[in-house]
Order: sequence, then structure tokens, then C-alpha cells
Amino acid sequence: MEIACLDLEGVLIPEIWIAFAEKTGIEELKATTRDIPDYDVLMKQRLRILDEHGYGLPDIQEVIATLEPLPGAIEFVDWLRERFQVIILSDTFYEFAQPLMRQLGFPTLFCHKLETDENGRVVNYHLRQKDPKRQSIFALKTIYYRTIAAGDSYNDTTMLAQADAGILFHAPQNVIDEFPQFPAVHTYEDLKKEFIKASERDLSL
Ligand SMILES: [Mg+2]
Repeated sequence: MEIACLDLEGVLIPEIWIAFAEKTGIEELKATTRDIPDYDVLMKQRLRILDEHGYGLPDIQEVIATLEPLPGAIEFVDWLRERFQVIILSDTFYEFAQPLMRQLGFPTLFCHKLETDENGRVVNYHLRQKDPKRQSIFALKTIYYRTIAAGDSYNDTTMLAQADAGILFHAPQNVIDEFPQFPAVHTYEDLKKEFIKASERDLSL
């Protein structure tokens, strides 16, 4: 049996924090791990900024609901789910992803959780586990699933390496150069072909 594992942001949907920053005009929310490498420091800063602007979870979800999956993503997920069991492995949070997952037809999602108080204020975040993408692939292997994974960035590379086959999608050139062992494609049509190539079954487009 084969399972397709997909990263979410940059593969099926826009980067949520960046898109949210653009929608709301809050420039400081555009910081990523490239600017602040310590994820905990970055997340605490993000939560503080949301607080300062008076954004509770319902307001944030309302803004996120106006975002759309990347063009072609819905059709791609439908195509993939006809041929594979699909699991999305993401470093986002369930509460943020919800409005976009609705548009994708709620595929299975493994990601992190936010903690809110009774007023909807986001007070903390909880990571599911360390190196969650790689660990998920590892766990699927222990129950004898063959895995094919696709992602766009550094936080996906341990997942791609752990999987039986790894594919870079929409990756920036520096990631492509650093990980030449993975095929790199930029359109959903080519990504479909890579999944077919990586499969042990006789699949067609
Ligand atoms: Mg990504």
C-alpha cells in the first residue's frame, strides 16, 4: 500500500503568516524562520503582535477564510486522492488551517495546535512532536506503508529523505541545489508525473 504525504504551505496553499500579514497590513508578521531562526522566539513574537492588534482566533480565521488554495491545488488533491491515501504533514496549526482545509475537502492533516482562552485570545502554541514530518513517515513505515512525499522547503527535507520517494515542489533554487537527490518540479502536472513515477503501481494521469 502507498501513502502520499504532502507539505501544505507553499505546496497547496500560500504561506499563511505572509498571506495574513498582507491581508491585514501588519508588516512585522512577515518575519519567518529566515529572519528569526529560533522558532519559539518567532512564534512568541507572532502571538504578541496578534495580541497588540487585538486579533483573537475568530478574527484570524475570518481573514484566513478569505485566502484561497494555490491555483490548481484543489484539482491536484482530488487527483491524488483517487490514486493514493493522502496525508498532509504540516508545521501549521489546526486552527489556522481549518478555513483552507475546508476548500481542499478536508484531507487528513497532521499538524500543531494553538491554545486559546475563553475570549478567543491565542495564549500559546503546542508542537505535536519534534521533527514531526519525518516521525510521521517513520511511523507509517512501521505499519508497512510505502510513502511518497512532496514538499517545498528545508523543513520538508528530513521527511523527503525518510520517505521511499521524495519530491521537491515549488522549492527555491538554493534548496534544489542543496538536495540534488530529489527530483524538483514546479507544476502540478509535473508533480502528478513524479508521483506516478515513484509509485510501484501502474497508474495513469
Ligand atoms: Mg512548505
